[in-house]
Amino acid sequence: MADLLQTPIEYLKGVGPARGQLLRKELGISTYADLANFFPNRYIDRTRYYKINELNQSNAEVQIIGKIVHVKTVEQGKGKRLVASFADDTGQMDLVWFQGIKWIRESIKIGVPLVVFGKATAFNGFYNIAHPEMELLTEHEQSLRTALQPVYPSTETLTNRGISNRTVNKMMQQLFLETQANFAETLPEQLLKDAHLIPKKAAMFNIHFPKSTEVLAKAQFRLKFEELFFIQLQLITKNLIRKHKIKGHPFKQVGKYFNDFYQNHLPFELTGAQKRVIKEIRNDMGNEAQMNRLLQGDVGSGKTMVALMSMLIALDNGFQSCLMAPTEILANQHFKGLSEMATGLGINIKILTGSTKAPDRKIIHEELENGSLHILIGTHALLEDKVKFHNLGLAVIDEQHRFGVEQRSKLWKKNDIPPHVLVMTATPIPRTLAMSLYGDLDVSVIDELPPGRKPIQTVHRYDANRLKVWKFIKDEIAKGRQIYIVYPLIEESSKMDYKDLMDGYESISRDFPLPQYSVSIVHGKMKPADKDAEMERFSKGKTNIMVATTVIEVGVNVPNASVMIIESAERFGLSQLHQLRGRVGRGAEQSYCILMTGHKLSHDSKTRMETMVRTNDGFEIAEVDLKLRGPGDMMGTQQSGVLNLQIADIVRDRDILAHARNFAFEILKDDPAMQKPEHATMRQVYMELTRKKNIWNYIS
Ligand code: ADP
Ligand code: MG
Repeated sequence: MADLLQTPIEYLKGVGPARGQLLRKELGISTYADLANFFPNRYIDRTRYYKINELNQSNAEVQIIGKIVHVKTVEQGKGKRLVASFADDTGQMDLVWFQGIKWIRESIKIGVPLVVFGKATAFNGFYNIAHPEMELLTEHEQSLRTALQPVYPSTETLTNRGISNRTVNKMMQQLFLETQANFAETLPEQLLKDAHLIPKKAAMFNIHFPKSTEVLAKAQFRLKFEELFFIQLQLITKNLIRKHKIKGHPFKQVGKYFNDFYQNHLPFELTGAQKRVIKEIRNDMGNEAQMNRLLQGDVGSGKTMVALMSMLIALDNGFQSCLMAPTEILANQHFKGLSEMATGLGINIKILTGSTKAPDRKIIHEELENGSLHILIGTHALLEDKVKFHNLGLAVIDEQHRFGVEQRSKLWKKNDIPPHVLVMTATPIPRTLAMSLYGDLDVSVIDELPPGRKPIQTVHRYDANRLKVWKFIKDEIAKGRQIYIVYPLIEESSKMDYKDLMDGYESISRDFPLPQYSVSIVHGKMKPADKDAEMERFSKGKTNIMVATTVIEVGVNVPNASVMIIESAERFGLSQLHQLRGRVGRGAEQSYCILMTGHKLSHDSKTRMETMVRTNDGFEIAEVDLKLRGPGDMMGTQQSGVLNLQIADIVRDRDILAHARNFAFEILKDDPAMQKPEHATMRQVYMELTRKKNIWNYIS
């Protein structure tokens, strides 16, 4: 049976070499099995037949029985179209083709009863269907047709070359006829029972030829479950292997530094989420395996505190830590914040960045190697070969999306035994996605903001209303607040973007003149020292307005700043908008975010603005972002298309994913190597998928 399914697609009756080649090229279908696993992306109710005089504008897709009475080719300008007059006993309408005219004209039979199907639109009260599906009524009546008609994904080339949805449907029928639909079960019997799954064979039949919405739902559930289940088996297995093989430093104790800090220096009560996450990290670092953990928390959720307390645990066990940030500004900010919090603990904390002077550098190198430097904060500079630790026990990486996997592993290599790694990100990756993409990382989530924060109010304003916005700013400044105004800088080198920024700065300086107001500016072309000085002035409250590019996107913390104005907001992605907004709302005052855009907005831009106005929930925003952009873009990497799923949808099917993951866990807990006889088939399928290396290739 298995062999039969491996038959090249050309051999299927009705396919042949030409179509076979098309299927390979356009849809990647080269065997019977590939075709069977080519699933519909939607279904249409075909139980109802319309009469032509029943058509109205609100009909979606309609099915009509009638005859073609006349065909003509109409030339108009450069274009050509084929128009067929189609009639039933109630009236007439047109069927229209713009492509594949020659082929269709030849195949049209005048006066023979047909069933046509498509979207009917009216033009001057006269209806037409463009590119309808057509079938002889006699064939229509005979075919293995069900009320729910599957619609398969297609391409323009396929449509033009006469491979319609109906053709695919017929191939599918032929396939099921030839193979007797004898698809072998891939999942253990017990699992089918426990997870309430229908057998593979039934699922395959009903996904292509559903008899009712109920059986269709069962078939979809079963196949989605299966797909996600095998991915999870792979990810969990990797994770188990890692836990097994990669030894870490067990941090057995929580001691003097941690306790002293917790009892005497904690600047505020920890949130419940912070406590929970610190406990997770502590447990994870406490055993023999190396920790590899992703810490997710929305902007302002207090990840820095978690990082500090984790580093204190390392210190209590006699190990050094480092914290790597993506920008110099952020590294500085961390350095200041952490030094402040750690005052009185007697810890040696230093910072190393590209602009650290040679003499300071020398001291840092020495102290690192002799172990007297406890915590090193910095930028990419930490990765340089010259930077050698005495014993690096924990590496914290802030804002993970700016660093690649390679950089992560570079930190590992700084010791014989790799340090524990804590990756912190404010880009909320939906948990489902994190689970399926980073199944090899454990995930902790801070899902609670520190108390007393007022939700930021967000509005969308058109450029034409700028005067009102300026008036609002003046009122806020009069109350003692500070303002961010951010300009897009999509490409570091873009001259236009800089011009926008500098023009903006000039006009803001005019509208908010000295001595009453003072305006700061920070952008990527400034020297780091100048940037820092300007940030410093703003954070000390010496200037009212900070005009900036996305340089400030990551991490800066000025609690008195309560208004974030984002210029040309339509040019930013959702996660970036959310990051920027997170710069305000950090103090006790009500904060605002104003999204400025032009009048013309694309559909997606509108959705982005509406989403920002509607919610402050980073996870909700991430889900919308994911839907708009697809998983690849969201990660800021080239992963789009990697999650090449046949049937499941990571976002929509997150419940099934969680379900599948639980079962995968249970099975592997009981039988890690899948050696039990009842798991033999599952193991075989698993091995085959692993060999194909489709999705897991890129996972670190
Ligand atoms: P992020 O997760 O974005 O890195 P930070 O660590 O910068 O957030 O924290 C944001 C702000 O909230 C900081 O000013 C920090 O001191 C403060 N903060 C963190 N945790 C708490 C808490 N439990 N209670 C009150 N304020 C807190
Ligand atoms: Mg932070």
